Amino acid sequence: MSLLKHWSNQPSVNVEAVPSSALASDFGSTPNRLFRPSLIGQCANQGCRSGWLHLFRKRSTPVFQGGWTCSPECTEARVQWALGRERRAPAHEIHPHRIPLGLLMLEQGWITRRQLHDALQAQRAAGSGRLGDWLVRQRATDEATVTRALGLQWSCPVLANEAYDPVALTSVVPRLFLDAFGALPLRIAAGKLLYLGFEQCLDPVLAFAVGSMTGLRVESGIVCSSQFRPALDRLLGEKFPEAQLAEAVSEVPAAHLLARSIERFQPMNSKMVRMHNFMWLRMWRSREADSVPSSDSVVDVLCSIGAL
Ligand SMILES: [Zn+2]
Repeated sequence: MSLLKHWSNQPSVNVEAVPSSALASDFGSTPNRLFRPSLIGQCANQGCRSGWLHLFRKRSTPVFQGGWTCSPECTEARVQWALGRERRAPAHEIHPHRIPLGLLMLEQGWITRRQLHDALQAQRAAGSGRLGDWLVRQRATDEATVTRALGLQWSCPVLANEAYDPVALTSVVPRLFLDAFGALPLRIAAGKLLYLGFEQCLDPVLAFAVGSMTGLRVESGIVCSSQFRPALDRLLGEKFPEAQLAEAVSEVPAAHLLARSIERFQPMNSKMVRMHNFMWLRMWRSREADSVPSSDSVVDVLCSIGAL
């Protein structure tokens, strides 16, 4: 079952798919809002052709990446441009070369060669399970030491879930990404620093995307397994912002789909970042685009793109 199909069965998640053949001309228009910045503002689409005609457009929204667009066509052009920029951005991929956990623990003197050999054999015989779990199961070491070793392996801190308040963290990362990529927002310090926990390995792509979307500085770290899963389950049980899921075969239909969502919602602000093969669009109902908004003040659109 694909990720999106799995999530389409979840409550409070809407799935919308747009065929790649859909045309830009089927955009709907929405009524005017509070005022008309178009009288004083300029369309953010650099290729806008409406000229002085935009003065007659009765709309103050949508606002995408901080810029107002005068028409659905201009919105789509801006989204297309932003999508291309995200594709060209340097990848924050996981570095593949790390010292194997067992070897690292051996070098530290935390396990013996015999213990490592036995754990590797048990892992091989079972055909599953993580080496750290086998070492604990065979009483070669304890969970705290394995977690410490993972922190060394990733050159990151070990994070604890003290004073954990899941209600305050539901809008930091969409539920789909938490579940699919195994991240755990732990706390926000001084409204600026987000501690983001991982169980086995860090995900720099996810951390970068969350930092870009929220404007928070993200400190990634390892959380021990016995704390990670219960804390994540608690968080997943909370109310998250509404999420709309979609699939597109390539960049052009994705831009069309995302622009259509923006035109329908008419956000006072919206932002888009790339998260692995997803584009994550967040739309705010109010002009104040809070880093950590309340769950009912934003709507997320998560669009998987086949060719990303
Ligand atoms: Zn325009």
